[in-house]
Amino acid sequence: MPLRAAIRTIPDYPKEGILFRDITTLLGDAKAFRKAVDELVQPWAGMKIEKVAGMEARGFILGGAVAHQLSSGFIPIRKKGKLPHETVSIAYELEYGTDEMEMHVDAVAQGERVILVDDLIATGGTATGAIRLLQKMGADVVAACFVIDLPDLGGAKKIEALGVPVRTLVAFE
Ligand code: IMP
Repeated sequence: MPLRAAIRTIPDYPKEGILFRDITTLLGDAKAFRKAVDELVQPWAGMKIEKVAGMEARGFILGGAVAHQLSSGFIPIRKKGKLPHETVSIAYELEYGTDEMEMHVDAVAQGERVILVDDLIATGGTATGAIRLLQKMGADVVAACFVIDLPDLGGAKKIEALGVPVRTLVAFE
């Protein structure tokens, strides 16, 4: 089954006029989940990637599986106030306004090769924030991977303009 068919679309969530792309159906389908993780890591199979960074919360699920597949460590990037140790934070752009995301100060070592993972890229505001945060702490961000791309919103192009290659598996216009 193509990955696209495993993704559920919920109209008017979280508010009217939004088509929410829901990956819980993909995660619940053993074959689709494996296929998505295999396809996400395919360009880096066998390469040394020290860390995979995932964004709260769906990026944790996919990123954990990707890290296991690449024999990498995992870095959780969370909303402000959720991590227990000393953190470094960055403001990032939302559709309306800004928010802050954080990671632990010792989550990445200088020059470590990191792949960023999330379920979906829309405007690219979240991923841009995460990349800037990782780079600020010395990471070499080698790629950003997403199951879903919303190309009309231009996020993937924005990330590529930062010099970070983007991998996406399914596009929804
Ligand atoms: P961006 O910052 O505009 O690129 O939005 C991407 C972030 O919002 C990611 O962390 C996604 O998980 C979340 N997001 C936005 N739209 C959707 C959707 O339709 N389905 C699932 N997540 C979404």
